Amino acid sequence: MSFHYIIIGAGSAGCVLANRLSTDPATRVCLIEAGPPDRNPMIHMPFGLAALAHMRWLNWGYETAPEPELGNRRLFWPRGRVLGGSSSINAMIYMRGHPQNYRDWAAAAGPDWDWPVVREIFKDHEDNRALADDHHGLGGPLTVSNLTAPNPLSRAFVQAGAECQIPVNPDFNGADQTGVGLYQVTQREGRRFSAAQAFLVPALARPNLTLVTGAQVHRVLIENRRAVGVALANREIRLREGGEVILSGGAINSPHLLMLSGIGPGANLQDMGIPVIHDAPQIGANLADHLDITVQAALKTRDAIGIAPSFLPRALRATWAYLRRGQGEFTSNVAEAGGFVTSDPARDRPNLQFHFIPAYLHDHGRRLSLGYGLTLHVCDLLPKSRGRITLAAPDPVAAPRIAANYLSHPDDLPTLLNGLKIARKITQAPAMQRFIARETLPGQQLTTDAQLEADIRARAETIYHPVGTCRMGTDPASVTDPAGRVRGVDGLRVVDASLMPQIIAGNTNAPTMMIAENIARMMLAPGS
Ligand SMILES: Cc1cc2nc3c(=O)[nH]c(=O)nc-3n(C[C@H](O)[C@H](O)[C@H](O)COP(=O)(O)OP(=O)(O)OC[C@H]3O[C@@H](n4cnc5c(N)ncnc54)[C@H](O)[C@@H]3O)c2cc1C
Repeated sequence: MSFHYIIIGAGSAGCVLANRLSTDPATRVCLIEAGPPDRNPMIHMPFGLAALAHMRWLNWGYETAPEPELGNRRLFWPRGRVLGGSSSINAMIYMRGHPQNYRDWAAAAGPDWDWPVVREIFKDHEDNRALADDHHGLGGPLTVSNLTAPNPLSRAFVQAGAECQIPVNPDFNGADQTGVGLYQVTQREGRRFSAAQAFLVPALARPNLTLVTGAQVHRVLIENRRAVGVALANREIRLREGGEVILSGGAINSPHLLMLSGIGPGANLQDMGIPVIHDAPQIGANLADHLDITVQAALKTRDAIGIAPSFLPRALRATWAYLRRGQGEFTSNVAEAGGFVTSDPARDRPNLQFHFIPAYLHDHGRRLSLGYGLTLHVCDLLPKSRGRITLAAPDPVAAPRIAANYLSHPDDLPTLLNGLKIARKITQAPAMQRFIARETLPGQQLTTDAQLEADIRARAETIYHPVGTCRMGTDPASVTDPAGRVRGVDGLRVVDASLMPQIIAGNTNAPTMMIAENIARMMLAPGS
């Protein structure tokens, strides 16, 4: 069998592409996913998210290299390895980012990425079951909903933000991003609505779309500087004449796969014994992520989602409510509330984001804490530090080397320190103090800037938004052109979060699906 398009990776971007490119019955599309189908019930029950970090068979479970500015700690980087990719293991927050992000993208990659264009794509995708105004769409493939049963603590967080003079914002994707509020989520009737559910499932009955799961692509086959197919562990899949291979493996795997195929920084490839087909130093560079720090508190009430014998009756009721009606506490996306503030007056958009969790959260859910607590995350939305993905071994199943270089730019630590202070202030506001017994992290004993900076270096973690490793642009040094076509090799595109020229000031799932839609439209346009 041969195909017009081979898409590598059925994640947020790959599912959108598979749907759009297979619309024409004459076009043969093959979608290849390394992970299994999304049958595990923990994927579909939103609160199951808390268990997914343990499930190594659904997760690439990457680790960064030792991070010099974080005490040489290796940070855990979960990434979905299942149908739906990271949209099947993420926290379901629906967020587009700030219009100014897309104006910056337009400056880097041309007018097709400007806010008026992408705003319409966001609206076209949307089936918003709660907000109906000019900012939102109804009837699109991606259902966006309000949480069915937000925890009282999440509402208290919003009130506490207001007590700290942060405006309450009922719609972060509306007229203004600034403020605190409850998040909207990609859920339909209380179940996770991943990219696979929204875009792939409706297209799967098409005879011209072939889905292969449990198959990791090891290499793109290239002949005379043109992609001609892909190599799996024990077979090859070929393109038809003039077809295209599209890498949608995500911001770590797409540059990794390019390098394994001989496209990337020449010296690194040679070190690994990989013949260099195209020396492209920018592949893997420009890695940006949102670094995050938390305030945690033990509660004097039992309102949180807790791990305690007293929570058992509630857990049983929550399971019943979820199974019967798609409602109740287990439809929680864990990060129920949050918001955006600007701590730096020189900035033209918010530079800090909060994620509020009505529960203890340690080590991405891998370490359980007994009792009732809360966790308030704050991250630096516009970091200036940049990292790089490189080959660590020529073996395609070995992980690449991830150097995030967090806090390597001197402006980033003061921003996060500011964020930590604001987060602490919110937890100290009356609405939160009604629930809080004591702060457990950073801990009341830490008060000076030096102490809090040391705490950040010791505890900061990713909030899961690595992007930018195959930067698109109009400049010749960019990895791809503005339509995701890899410079220097024909018939080869990257379409996923790696394309982002700069990191979005917000969560990255909806922007990644928008990227795929935008490029699919470019590919399907007459004369393209
Ligand atoms: C724990 C977590 C929580 C998050 N929470 C949110 C949130 O609440 N809201 C939000 O907007 N964003 C969130 N994100 C981020 C968001 O989900 C991602 O940015 C987005 O899904 C990235 O999409 P992608 O298409 O680039 O990659 P992915 O969705 O990761 O898809 C890549 C796919 O390619 C497959 N693949 C990779 N390599 C190969 C290969 N060689 N062969 C075959 N298949 C391959 C992978 O298995 C995967 O399925 C979160 C992410 C994580 C990990």
